[in-house]
Amino acid sequence: MKLTRWAWIAMPALMLTACKHKTEEGKRTIFLDKAGMDTTAKPGDNFFEYANGTWFKTVKIPASESGWGSFYTVDDDNVKHLHEILEDVSKQSNAADSKEQKVGDLYKSGMDTAALDKLDYTPIKPILAKIGAVKDYQGLVSLAADGYKTGDGFLFGFYVSADDRKSSMNIPHFDQTGLSLPERDYYFKTDSASKKIRDEFVKYIAKLFTMTGTDATTAAKKADAILKLETAIAGSHLTPVELRDPVKNYNKFAVTDFQRHVPDIDLKDAFMRMGLKTDTILVGQPGYYAALDGLLKSKPIDVWKDKACFNEIDGSASILSKRFRDAHFQFWNKNLYGEKVQKPRWKIMSQTVDGGLGELLGQLYVEKYFTPDAKKRMLDLVNNLISVYHDRIEKLDWMGPETKKQALAKLAAFTKKIGYPDKWKDYSDVHINADSFFANERSIEMHNYRRMMAKVGKPVDRSEWGMTPPTVNAYYNPTYNEIVFPAGILQFPFFDNDADDAINYGGIGAVIGHEMTHGFDDQGRQYDKDGNLKDWWTKDDADKFKKKVQVMIDQYNQYTVLNGLHVNGQLTQGENLADIGGLAIAYQAFKNTSEGKSDQKIGGLTPDQRFFMSWAQIWRVKNTDEVMRMRINLDPHSPELYRTNGPLSNMPAFYKAFGVKPGDKMYRDGKDMVKVW
Ligand SMILES: [Zn+2]
Repeated sequence: MKLTRWAWIAMPALMLTACKHKTEEGKRTIFLDKAGMDTTAKPGDNFFEYANGTWFKTVKIPASESGWGSFYTVDDDNVKHLHEILEDVSKQSNAADSKEQKVGDLYKSGMDTAALDKLDYTPIKPILAKIGAVKDYQGLVSLAADGYKTGDGFLFGFYVSADDRKSSMNIPHFDQTGLSLPERDYYFKTDSASKKIRDEFVKYIAKLFTMTGTDATTAAKKADAILKLETAIAGSHLTPVELRDPVKNYNKFAVTDFQRHVPDIDLKDAFMRMGLKTDTILVGQPGYYAALDGLLKSKPIDVWKDKACFNEIDGSASILSKRFRDAHFQFWNKNLYGEKVQKPRWKIMSQTVDGGLGELLGQLYVEKYFTPDAKKRMLDLVNNLISVYHDRIEKLDWMGPETKKQALAKLAAFTKKIGYPDKWKDYSDVHINADSFFANERSIEMHNYRRMMAKVGKPVDRSEWGMTPPTVNAYYNPTYNEIVFPAGILQFPFFDNDADDAINYGGIGAVIGHEMTHGFDDQGRQYDKDGNLKDWWTKDDADKFKKKVQVMIDQYNQYTVLNGLHVNGQLTQGENLADIGGLAIAYQAFKNTSEGKSDQKIGGLTPDQRFFMSWAQIWRVKNTDEVMRMRINLDPHSPELYRTNGPLSNMPAFYKAFGVKPGDKMYRDGKDMVKVW
């Protein structure tokens, strides 16, 4: 997995009710779901419950999902739109190599499950045979390196992107990798839920081996040995909290120097096989590579080969026959995410085409579902928030003039991307036909690799996007110093062209403020206006920042879910800071609008009450217990209950709007309130 330092508004791997009050012309007229509230709850004790309590108690997570609510339902609608587009184009006769032909035939090839079932695991047999023929660890490293060109590389967490200290240039990155489970602690935790996951994991590995011709006893032994090997690898991995530190994870090496750290991995040979020509690399976590070098020799080669086979089968399961798809679902989706049944095939394939040919399908999507109008309104909102942010930085009472000057320069330099890219990616070397899903996926993998390798040592192209247009998410990328809002999130409940300002500022306004604040969170603040990892803070101001953030870390450390599991205030500090700062900025910008200045009620609520209700309703999300447990371990975002209540506990305007008093559970004394940005 690529360890990206982008800060998202929500966790994408877990992509996450819109209430349908529309008139006949299709315009929404009601923007807050009153029936979903629980007015028996006291707003000052638990605002999430007050705003969403009835919804939360009555909503059922669909059996094929790991969560439901705002992000999930908007995403669900988007996938339905993609599905309509794909059904349409796959029925047309399209010119060869046109975007319609490529997305339509990729979709068709994956929908043909009868063809996949007939092939069973034939498509990966040649790869398994190659792994089987490996004689020693040197041979394994060669095979792993050869694999990158076709998407089968392993051992190295390799990708090419901007050099954090020279952000205009691309450089090869090598990060830690080699684990199947989500992060290192899954291998060491002794609680019953973690143990159960490991037991199921071992059973799953053994199952894939028996399905590919190994007897049950041998398969069980192989599975145990793989878990032990991965546990040894996990021992070298940094934790999710340690991965937040951009300085610690930036280690530049001349290739010849790094060779001395990994004497038993022939880097020259490996790079030649990968097609990589470079003198310098960035190593995210050198500890992993030192451990790998030792483990390659000390662990039996057969265990390494078994692990490579398992990873290949597991990683390819979604493009193999039903029995593989079912086994994969059973372990990952069911045991780990708490989904009960598999998603319909059309949904899986719509998401697959979005993932593989996202900027081809995205062109068809925005033509149909995104208006220039929405883009303009959005740009106005962003500019309003930037000017408020500017004003707030100027007035900060804790920051000195030198640091302020740098912070303002950084704010002014933000690149704003809204809706979809100005320049679409070129897929002309991707070949897609309706008959072979496997060959199509391979062609996409090879294209992605070629595209990535063309960047080595070249200037960064800042017009690139890291999310596809239908994605219901947003991000800040520190090396580009940019805030990005795909078309997918510019919809209700986040944004509606017909809604009053309280709704839009409490929704997408707070999301915009959130992304902007990432430029100044514990990670983002370490990058300058040009996207370089470079300290621009006076020591005094940096100390004050850390002291203020510690108060917030303490606040979130006290929050619990699932009978006593604590939110990790360290892990979630960047996101919590972005939530608190983003909401405060959006609120101030809202107060500049005519609605914000008036006291005219709409639907029985004052403008300020509507603003805070809108905020609470965008975080209306319910997860399965399995996903909630996983999120506490590795998601930098707090659970939605606390994303709602945490920032509000630090806002005097919220106290005023809902009469929050000392003694209420969310009440914090003025001196304890977190105010950084
Ligand atoms: Zn975020």
